[in-house]
Amino acid sequence: MGDRMRYKGRFIKKKVFDKQIKIKNGLQKKRKGNDLSTNNKPNLSEGFRVVDLKLLAEKLKCVKCFEILCLDNIVHEQNLGLNSILKVKCTKCDIITIVPMSKTHRTADNKSNHSDINTGVVLGAIHADYDCTGLNKILACTNIPTILPQLFKRYEREAGPAIEEAAKESCKRAAKEERQHQ
Ligand SMILES: [Zn+2]
Repeated sequence: MGDRMRYKGRFIKKKVFDKQIKIKNGLQKKRKGNDLSTNNKPNLSEGFRVVDLKLLAEKLKCVKCFEILCLDNIVHEQNLGLNSILKVKCTKCDIITIVPMSKTHRTADNKSNHSDINTGVVLGAIHADYDCTGLNKILACTNIPTILPQLFKRYEREAGPAIEEAAKESCKRAAKEERQHQ
């Protein structure tokens, strides 16, 4: 029993225990490191983002001198639902470039600009029978910025005609299948 230690309510071998502690300390050190970096950038929240990689590669260049920008130099982040809009400072000329994570499109009524990612995720949520709270639960568990109810509503209005269309299609399919089985 001499080489057995208690860890999280279980008896484990000392060697395994030492390893667990090492991993734990390593993680804590890593987390502390992250904290330091976020302290320097109070406007950058932790967690995951949904990124249009092609767009990011295209936009991560200084608008003035075309120097490739480094994500270490983010000075501000604004989250419009799942679309994060970064402000990145150029180390060469100090100019700040705006780098969005999603493309945008004009809504069908031509009244506003919507982010492709928000339109997609709200449409998906409606198809899956999720409301804003349901969608936000998934986003929060995955540590992705959540969507405000007002924003969800705005995108829901845009998705309305597409949903009606999808519902009609699904009805037609169901009717066709029923006829085939008769
Ligand atoms: Zn520059």
